[in-house]
Amino acid sequence: MLLGLSKIIDCPGGVVPFETSLDLSQMEFGGSCPISEPVHAVGQVRNTAGVLVLTGDVTTRLHGVCDRCAKPFERDFAVSLEAVLVTKVESDGLEDPWTFELDGDNADLDDILTTAVVLNMDSKLLCSEDCKGLCPRCGADLNLGPCSCKPEPDPRLAVLQQLLKK
Ligand SMILES: [Zn+2]
Ligand SMILES: [Zn+2]
Repeated sequence: MLLGLSKIIDCPGGVVPFETSLDLSQMEFGGSCPISEPVHAVGQVRNTAGVLVLTGDVTTRLHGVCDRCAKPFERDFAVSLEAVLVTKVESDGLEDPWTFELDGDNADLDDILTTAVVLNMDSKLLCSEDCKGLCPRCGADLNLGPCSCKPEPDPRLAVLQQLLKK
């Protein structure tokens, strides 16, 4: 969606609210497409002393498969947005991902929301932050309790082994 800002571009203090949703169900993360529900965004663009600042909240619900335990899961996804809209992005090599170029007098909300989701997506999809995953030896789901494999490797050693594998 393009958000028209001609009313506030030359009007410090001016505000344009927005509410939109976006379909990112085709977007792939780690081999799956977890954003199967619409991405919803509510916010506003304010002309703050001549600078157009977009703020808002982006929410959706992820439907993914856990990278560690391979279980399907659902999880809420929410990020706060704050972006600066400019008429022209200076390409000095120090590109700020939160600076967006206006399309004429319009803000390209789809582009901004897509960036917000991509930059805030975890590189690994986990059913929960502390998912214990599957036992590498017997494949048991360690979230349900320890398996019968032993001995438990020293966790510090396991970290070292992970590093050596890379
Ligand atoms: Zn998991
Ligand atoms: Zn095991």
